[in-house]
Amino acid sequence: MNISSSISLFERAQKTIPGGVNSPVRAFKSVGGTPLFISKAKGAYLYDADDNRYIDYIASWGPMILGHAYEEVVKAIQRQALSSTSYGAPTKLEIEMAELIVSMVPNVELIRMVSSGTEACMSAIRLARGYTGKNKIIKFEGCYHGHADSFLVKAGSGVATLNIQTVPGVTAGVANDTLTCAYNDLAAAEQLVAENKDQIAAIIVEPVAGNMGCILPQPGFLEGLRRICDQENIVFIFDEVMTGFRLSAGGAQEKLNVKADLVTYGKVIGGGMPVGAFGGSKEIMQHIAPLGNVYQAGTLSGNPIAMIAGYTTLGILKGNPHIYKELEEKTIYLRDNLHRVFIASKIPFVINQFGSMISVHFSDHAVNDFASAASAKNELFKKYFHAMLDRGIYLPPSAFESWFLNNALTKEDLDRTIEATKESLSEISGDQVQ
Ligand SMILES: *Cc1c(COP(=O)(O)O)cnc(C)c1O
Repeated sequence: MNISSSISLFERAQKTIPGGVNSPVRAFKSVGGTPLFISKAKGAYLYDADDNRYIDYIASWGPMILGHAYEEVVKAIQRQALSSTSYGAPTKLEIEMAELIVSMVPNVELIRMVSSGTEACMSAIRLARGYTGKNKIIKFEGCYHGHADSFLVKAGSGVATLNIQTVPGVTAGVANDTLTCAYNDLAAAEQLVAENKDQIAAIIVEPVAGNMGCILPQPGFLEGLRRICDQENIVFIFDEVMTGFRLSAGGAQEKLNVKADLVTYGKVIGGGMPVGAFGGSKEIMQHIAPLGNVYQAGTLSGNPIAMIAGYTTLGILKGNPHIYKELEEKTIYLRDNLHRVFIASKIPFVINQFGSMISVHFSDHAVNDFASAASAKNELFKKYFHAMLDRGIYLPPSAFESWFLNNALTKEDLDRTIEATKESLSEISGDQVQ
């Protein structure tokens, strides 16, 4: 494949942009090679600067659940743009967006819009601290809640991909208020709470983890955390930035039937525009300014272009529940056939899948937490990634990321992906023999 335009764009980008990218995982650092510069996308396909076509399994890390350049969404954005791109004053559209979200997701009475998942999670823990009058939070190793200081402790996603142990610039004071234990280890969480009696403001969790590959909550894990939070007056925060509006119209809360006190959203909620949100009961949310004194604000929060993209996307998802069924069927078809192809290759593997999230770890043991994800053979992932890319399949450039299916994918696309995996694995086995 000729990627000469991407190669020269990457060289040029590095002169004025740190590492040539505006978000680290895009740089392909852990898999090596040149990141592709994308010029356009439509449906399930991305086109790079040399006009090569790729089947997209990133979907902008989740948001493009309907496929790229979905006509209704694009038209709504175009219409709104003619009435100006920002006012910095309230709009009816924001009410409609809030009402739509409240009608879709459980346990959210009030919702505040922000511009990223990071902001949503950062604001949610500030609110939990303000509400409870306590300082510490518990997060799980390998979970990623954005790049706010409090969360850059044993974080997943790019922090794990780049293998950064401690992030310079995060003060010890802040880091010490973030306690961590292994995902799916309920006993360890219970012990942290006991050791820090009356000091824990919040437990924040990805209900299905997607930032160390895709990792499922084991039965009883989330329910156990819910019980601990009830007993100890701790705010239970579901970080649904990935799972919200993806696993179902009501997100992980609905799909897994576990109630959260606060929920954070991002990714799908903006339909491809920069949007995040956090919400919960009136009881807690009324502490946010201007109702309460927990200050939180944003010049471009509720931006009309962002709102119309999100509102249109969520409206389509709400009105067409079959989309979730189709997405899940496609993902299961992909999983089962990848399974078949991997078995035949004799290369050790683990495929974790939930709804339209799926990932492959090159491991001979179950992958249930960060330690088991990190001990997989990521050298093999790197080879697999490049072999797939050469065949026009665009996977996340890290084993610590989930793949996200979009509903524009056809059976032919999935079959091509399975065939490409078969070829890639035989290429990898060939390498191993040499
Ligand atoms: C992506 C992500 C975030 C951060 O969202 P940004 O919009 O990148 O700031 C937070 N939490 C989870 C679970 C995520 O996947």
